Amino acid sequence: MDEFHKTALVTGITGQDGSYLTELLLKKGYQVHGVVRRSSSFNRWRIDHLIKDDRIYGNKLYLHYADLNDDASLRRIFKKVGPDEFYHLAGQSHVGLSFEIPELTTQEIAGCTVKLLEICRDQEFRPKIYLACSSEIFGDAQEPHQNEESNFNPTSPYGASKAFCVHMGRIFRQSYGLFVCNGILYNHESPRRGENFVTQKIVRSAAEIAAEKKDSLELGNLDVERDWGHAKDYVEGMWQMLQQENPNDYVLATGVAHSLREFLSVAFEYFELDYRNFVSINNRFLRPNEPQRLCGDPSKAKKNLGWRTTHSFTEIIHDMCLSAKANIL
Ligand code: NAP
Ligand code: GDP
Repeated sequence: MDEFHKTALVTGITGQDGSYLTELLLKKGYQVHGVVRRSSSFNRWRIDHLIKDDRIYGNKLYLHYADLNDDASLRRIFKKVGPDEFYHLAGQSHVGLSFEIPELTTQEIAGCTVKLLEICRDQEFRPKIYLACSSEIFGDAQEPHQNEESNFNPTSPYGASKAFCVHMGRIFRQSYGLFVCNGILYNHESPRRGENFVTQKIVRSAAEIAAEKKDSLELGNLDVERDWGHAKDYVEGMWQMLQQENPNDYVLATGVAHSLREFLSVAFEYFELDYRNFVSINNRFLRPNEPQRLCGDPSKAKKNLGWRTTHSFTEIIHDMCLSAKANIL
């Protein structure tokens, strides 16, 4: 089928990645269908600009109510939409919270992914599938740079559930010939990042402190290093995976790790502040266990997909700071 008439189904369309992916797919001429769940307050701000555009909403973009736990609705949506490509991004996405709600995390990430793979297997026309996996599968990693062959050693219920998804993706690919790609993505941020992730929490707090609306910031473990990229680059990689002739697993990462203190320093300097004057540790934000350092090796994605990152560490932070500042004013 012509690329310009493809249909994509996206779970998690209201999230950070779902919103950027939708913009990308629409730009490429796709008809995009998103799964949304009901909530008591409206939480579609990331795709609001698309919903308000009459040329897009109801024309190229459609939303369908369901929940990951609502089997019948999901099956009905697949039947109605008949997607060429299925991007499964939805689920409990917070590592720290996964220690507080491990059962729900496991059910949503692991259980619901198998259910969706089964639904895809039952389709007359089977879609190409993207599964949102995570660097947290490597956990206490043995190598300084992890790649698609690295051992899984997760340290959280979230990481263990995502590791299960990678295995299941591979099993469905090998056993039933399903076109399943596991995207093993390292942390990726943007102005649309959820506010309980550390990057957004830091940037918003720095903006508030600079505007004298707040005078301190409480955090957990500052002695960690992560490989932070920009979400816009990572959704491009998701799409590229599904354009290949054969399905595969890919690490998407920048290949460079930074400490949380470096992140704090760049974010606070943007507002001409020294983070050391404002940040304190609150044990409430410490996790029972976590990887000290995660850093990916994206060589395979670069070679096979031609994937590249286009935002530096500083650019990502400044992009978030600019947006946080605008939202405060
Ligand atoms: P996010 O902003 O937290 O978005 C999560 C999305 O999932 C939201 O649209 C949310 O809907 C939806 N969702 C959650 N539970 C659901 C349920 N029971 N039924 C239906 N929808 C549900 O996450 P993200 O940053 O875009 O990440 C997308 C995926 O990539 C996630 O699976 C995440 O674990 C994974 N990942 C993210 C990163 C990263 O650094 N961002 C790295 C590796 C992997 P509501 O808007 O209604 O809450
Ligand atoms: P994650 O890597 O997907 O868990 O993304 P987060 O942004 O939630 O956390 C990144 C790192 O920041 C982890 O190592 C956290 O332990 C650390 N961190 C330190 N303080 C905080 C905090 O107050 N909130 C969050 N979310 N993370 C924190």
